Amino acid sequence: MEFQAPRGTTDVLPDDQGYWRYVENTASQVAESFGYRRIDTPVFEDTNLFIRGIGDSTDIVEKETYTFKDRGGDSLTLRPEGTASICRAYLQHGMHNMPQPVRLFYLCPNFRYERPQAGRFRAFHQFGIEAFGESDPYIDAEVIEVSWRFLKAVGIDDISLSINSIGDMDCRPKYVDALKTHYQNHSSSLCPDCHRRLDTNPLRLLDCKIESCQPIIESAPKGTEYLCIPCNTHWLQLQEYLTEVGIRFNVDNTLVRGLDYYSRTVYEITPPTNRRTSVIAGGGRYDGLLEQLGGPATPGIGFGMGIERVIENIKRLGINIVAESKLNIMFAHMGEPAKKESIRLSSKIRQLGAEAFVGPSRGLKSQMRYASNMNASHTIIIGDDELSSGTYTVRDLTSGDQSEMTADGILNFVKDYDNSHRVN
Ligand SMILES: [Zn+2]
Ligand SMILES: [Zn+2]
Repeated sequence: MEFQAPRGTTDVLPDDQGYWRYVENTASQVAESFGYRRIDTPVFEDTNLFIRGIGDSTDIVEKETYTFKDRGGDSLTLRPEGTASICRAYLQHGMHNMPQPVRLFYLCPNFRYERPQAGRFRAFHQFGIEAFGESDPYIDAEVIEVSWRFLKAVGIDDISLSINSIGDMDCRPKYVDALKTHYQNHSSSLCPDCHRRLDTNPLRLLDCKIESCQPIIESAPKGTEYLCIPCNTHWLQLQEYLTEVGIRFNVDNTLVRGLDYYSRTVYEITPPTNRRTSVIAGGGRYDGLLEQLGGPATPGIGFGMGIERVIENIKRLGINIVAESKLNIMFAHMGEPAKKESIRLSSKIRQLGAEAFVGPSRGLKSQMRYASNMNASHTIIIGDDELSSGTYTVRDLTSGDQSEMTADGILNFVKDYDNSHRVN
C-alpha cells in the first residue's frame, strides 16, 4: 500500500463505531444530568491563545503543537486540549454576563505531536467539561463527580481517585520556594529534565517519571502543608463534599498536572494498574486563566479525558455495549418482479425509521451469507410463489423462527417492533 494513515492516527472502522456512540451518548447524558450544555469550538485557533492559555514553558506548547501559517500569513494551531478554546468562547460570547456558574461540556478531536506509543495518539478525542464563575468547592466536587459517574455509567468500575491542592497565587510561591530549596540540595542527582524544570516549571518536578528522581520526590515538602487559610478551607470542604456523594479518594501530594494554569484543586482518575501512565481522566481548577486570556477575573474548573483510553478500558473489562436489539431486515429476492417488490418494501420500512436493505443480485445462498455478514436481524424471502400468494416468509436470524406475513403485515410488524424495542 502506498498510503497509510499518518503516524499516531487511527481509523475508526464500522465495527468499532458502536463503542464511540456508546461513549459519546453516555457522556452527553451524564453531563446533561448535571446541567452541563454542549459546546463545539473550531479545530484550530490563533496560536497565541494556546501560548497565553497553556503556557509557553509546557511540553505541549514547546514541542507538541501542530502550528502552521495559513495562506493569509496568520499563525494557527490545531487545538491540543479543550480548555483554552472554551475559555475563549466563554469570553467572546459574553457568557461571563450570564448567571454564573456557566456549565459546558465538549466532545472533540485534539492534536499533539507526541511520540506515538501504546494508547497515545497524535490525533485523539476528548470528553471534557468546564464550569465557570464559581469558586465554591461544591463545584470542584461536582466536576469530579461528573467524571466519576460517567466512568461508572460506561461500566468502568475499578477506578480510583487521587486529589491534591496546589494552592493559589498567595500561598504557592512559598511552597515553590521550599520545593526549589529541597531540589537544590539534591541537584547532583537530578535528571536533565528536572534540572530544566527547576528553572522553568518547578511544580512539574513532582511529575518526573525517571527512576532516580523518585526518592527526591518522596522526600519533597508537601504542598497541602503550605496552603493559606482560604485555600486550606477550600481543600477541606472539597473532601467533605466528595464524602457526601460517596466518592472515595486518596490524597496524592505529588499530583500537579501538566499545565501551568491550575490552582487549588487538581485530580486524576486511574484504573488499578499502571498508575500515572494510564490516567483516564484528569482536571482541576484554573482560577487565573480567564484573566490571563484578557477577560475579567473569573474562577473556572474542568476535566478532560481521552475517549480512546476510555474505550481501551471498556474493552479491557470486556463490557458488553450491544444491549440494543435493532431491526435490520434484508430482502432476499429471486427474479426481477421479486426484486422490485423488495426495493418497494425496503423503502417503506426505512420510512418507518427501521433499517432495511435489498440483497445482492446473486443466488439465494449467497444473499443469505451476505445477510449474516451485515448483521441483519431478519430476512424476508421473495420469489414468484410468494408474489402470487401475497405472503412472504420472515425469518428471525437470531432465534431461527419463521413466520408468514403479507406486505401490510410486515409493515405493522416493523411499527410494533420499533415501539417495543427502541432504546432512547
Ligand atoms: Zn527527574
Ligand atoms: Zn492559598
